[in-house]
Amino acid sequence: MKPIDLRSDTVTKPSKGMLEFMLKAEVGDDVYGEDPTVNELEALGASLMGMEAALFVPSGTQSNLLALLTHCERGDEYIAGQTAHTYLCEGGGAAIVGGIHPQPLAFEPDGTLDLSKVKALIKPDNDHFARTRLLCLENTQSGLALPPDYPARAVLFAKEHHLKIHLDGARIFNAAIKHHTTAREIAHGFDSVSVCLSKGLGAPAGSLLCSNATFIKRARRWRKVLGGGMRQAGILAAAGIYALKNNIERLGEDHRHASVLAKGLGEIGRIRVHYPKTQTNMVFVDIGDTDPANLSRSLGEQGILIHPAKILRLVTHRDVSAEAITTAIDGFKNFYLSTTKNSLQ
Ligand SMILES: *Cc1c(COP(=O)(O)O)cnc(C)c1O
Repeated sequence: MKPIDLRSDTVTKPSKGMLEFMLKAEVGDDVYGEDPTVNELEALGASLMGMEAALFVPSGTQSNLLALLTHCERGDEYIAGQTAHTYLCEGGGAAIVGGIHPQPLAFEPDGTLDLSKVKALIKPDNDHFARTRLLCLENTQSGLALPPDYPARAVLFAKEHHLKIHLDGARIFNAAIKHHTTAREIAHGFDSVSVCLSKGLGAPAGSLLCSNATFIKRARRWRKVLGGGMRQAGILAAAGIYALKNNIERLGEDHRHASVLAKGLGEIGRIRVHYPKTQTNMVFVDIGDTDPANLSRSLGEQGILIHPAKILRLVTHRDVSAEAITTAIDGFKNFYLSTTKNSLQ
């Protein structure tokens, strides 16, 4: 039986339709700008974001790093969430490669950065301090779609304080579906946006960095420096085109599955589901005094994959069916039934 993999939406495999579309891709050397399929994907991505240009890159991590390197110089500072991907999960790339100094601060419970707290962290023009240059936001953040009016407020705030503003929109389409709006609307006014094709959208690899044409020209240079210039990348870009044309609306299904999962797990006494956090395709579960390794082992034996942790992050995606959600809930129930029977775990 195929395992039910709730570890991440990055585990999605290309569908038959996507693979067939990839096979037919026309390719060329993208470092020369001659791959028609990459060019088509970049044009499509840019238009969906309401931006002038886009750049196809191997990963979301590289896309964010390119944004940081293009917005900031050595000795500049960016402000980001304490648990933001751009701060916590990219190996310190901005500092290593760009000499760019991070200023983290805690996210609010709704996934936003409190703009008055951001304001207090902007350094005055003084030789003692790094030059605060950039504000980075994330949407969705831990499965939370930022409140609909927040992006525009943050954009205005950045303009008022002479900061550039970047959006790590790895899952921006999930946010758009949640709020019945478009990615273009959410991205409006940002100086740059990064979008992952390889998560819920189901492409095997790749992200798009979107911005104005001048910025993308400079980012393209950095992409080459980082070794991200791919040659006949149209085969991968085709998967991205297919994903953007076919797989955006169906993210709603993942959200519905996540709600069902949250509800089902909520009925199990010994764990606590973070309800308000189940807005898109992620369910967070506080397992209290349960041993994460035991739980993960038992679920694994039942064909359900999770990352063991005190607060579980369960992610729904196109390879997790409605039926699989029921099986997953039963898997948790089985574990708790058996541990109750033994009255230990
Ligand atoms: C996955 C992710 C990235 C990075 O994508 P990779 O392709 O895994 O490098 C960036 N930001 C967020 C919020 C992500 O979830």
